[in-house]
Order: sequence, then structure tokens, then C-alpha cells
Amino acid sequence: MTLGPVFGVSGRQAESERILMRNAMQSTISTAIEITGHGVHTAAPVTIKLRPADVNSGIRFLRTGLPGGRERLIEARHSQITPSDLCTILGDAESGSVSTIEHLMAALYALEIDNVLVEIDGPEAPIMDGSSAPFIEMIDRAGIRKQNGNRRYIKVLKRLRIAQGERFAELLPFSQGFRLTVEIKFDAEVIGHQKKTLDLSPSSFRRELAGARTFGFLRDVEKLRMAGFAHGASLDNTVAIGDDGILNPEGLRYPDEFVRHKMLDAVGDLSLAGLPILGHYRSYVGGHKLNVSMLTALFSDRSAYAIVEAGKPVARPVDAAAMAPALAVLSPELN
Ligand SMILES: [Zn+2]
Repeated sequence: MTLGPVFGVSGRQAESERILMRNAMQSTISTAIEITGHGVHTAAPVTIKLRPADVNSGIRFLRTGLPGGRERLIEARHSQITPSDLCTILGDAESGSVSTIEHLMAALYALEIDNVLVEIDGPEAPIMDGSSAPFIEMIDRAGIRKQNGNRRYIKVLKRLRIAQGERFAELLPFSQGFRLTVEIKFDAEVIGHQKKTLDLSPSSFRRELAGARTFGFLRDVEKLRMAGFAHGASLDNTVAIGDDGILNPEGLRYPDEFVRHKMLDAVGDLSLAGLPILGHYRSYVGGHKLNVSMLTALFSDRSAYAIVEAGKPVARPVDAAAMAPALAVLSPELN
């Protein structure tokens, strides 16, 4: 395995230095906490329990309740993703998987939580109200605890672009943090063309994205259910769009709730980079597959990113050996 460029924080990188210093230490939750619900696709009842976890352990899922009483530990990382259009899946059906994890992952990423063990006793995370808000509430109840370990970041060094027909996604250097620009276009009048940019922080996520719900078209429901999806979908967890507009009696939570939910999904998907990102992510008419493809493109080009560590003295290169654990965890993409 070649390590490629591993940089510390140079004197020229004052902007990224600020973000690195603002939140220099890793975090976990203070106490274990659980929540119960059902999957939006499988309708399977499920309990997830979040447990505090050690420094550098990352976000990991412990899938319990597999046939024969087996368990499987799955790291919430790009290398574990099974591609899907409708949700994000970690692991594989044969040896155990967890799906629709993106709304929980978005909440953990946005609240800058580095290390948690998520015990889950079913194949799919609970959909709750279709947004990240119930997971934010859950984490708030548990509390957040700083840990004795420096945060590490993936710093985007050059522009990467992928396209699938008219859809495209880009990752651009942006030292001040993680910026998202998401643009969507639907024929349905209630959605139309929506575009939004946000600099992600715990407060901006809570205010702007956390409550934005999953959405779907009534005309697709039967087709989805025939294919084994959306069995747990209802007006309690999905904004449903019919021929004459929104079917939910309460209406929308934000006038542009749709693009906000796409941004929430992108945060959850990109969190599978395994470390927080210093960069600007742009997507046009994107979705889970495009988000995941962007990570594949990033990790396929070792000159496109560096791993930087908070709290390191300015202008001193990070010791490559000290970075080995982080790189080893990401190794499938770093060869
Ligand atoms: Zn979603």
C-alpha cells in the first residue's frame, strides 16, 4: 500500500487551521440510548441502541438478530456500501446488512460525533418521521462527550467531477469546512427547480436540514411495493406527492423541504467517507448512487485528498506512521 501525500496543517492553510482548532477533539455520546420504530422499506420493527465508543473506532453498526443468533460488526464506511438507488445499505444480504442508515448518519456527522456503536436488531434503521430530527433529539438526550484524541479530516485538494447523463456531482477544495450545494429538478409543480447552499455546522443542520422529510410520489408506490420497497411508508414518515400536490394534511415543514432532504441525504451518504470532509460538495439532480459514486471517485485518486489532523503544530507534516491506523481503516480505497 502506498500512503501518498499525507499533510499536516501548513502556514498557508490558515482557514482550515481555524476549523481544525475550533473542534480539535473527537467526540462520542455520554450514555447509551435506544429508540424503536420500523423500516420504511421493509416495515420491519427495529430497535437501535447507540453506545459510547472508543477514540478512533468511528461509527460502527453491530447488526444483531441474524439467523442462528449471529451478529455482524459493520463499519460505516464507503468500502462497506452496497449500491442502491432508494437508500444507503452497508454490508450485504448474505452475511448481514443494515439499510436506510443515511438519516441517522447525517445526524451523527452534523453533530460532529466521531465514535459510536449502533446496535441494530433488524435489517433497516427506523424511519421515524422521515427526517433526522428524532435522531438529533436522541443524541441530545444522551449528551455529547469530548474524547482524548484529535479529530482527523479528509481535505479535498482538487476538483473532482462525475456525471451520469445530465446528473453530475463535484467535490471542490474548500478549507473552511463542509459546504453543500444541492440542486434538484422535478416535473411535479410542487417541487420544480430547487437549489440551496449550506455551510454545515451543528446549528445550521439543526435549523436548516434536520426536519426535512423523505418524499415520494404516489404514482410510484405500487411499483416500489411490488419490488419490495416502501412497505413501511406512510404519511407519518413520508411527504407524499399526488397529482394535485402534497397529500399530507399538515403540509410542508419548509417551502423547499425537498431540496433540504436531498442535502440531508448527501450529508449522511458522504459521512461514509469515514472522516469529516473539508470540501465543497455540489450535486445536480443527484441521489444516493451519485453521492456514493463521488466517494468512489475521491478514494480512487490519492492526489485528490489529504488526511489532516486537528491540534497538530502548524507547518509540521503529520507523521505517516502515526496516521497508519486511519489509513488502514480506509485501505480498500487507498491502494
Ligand atoms: Zn432520505
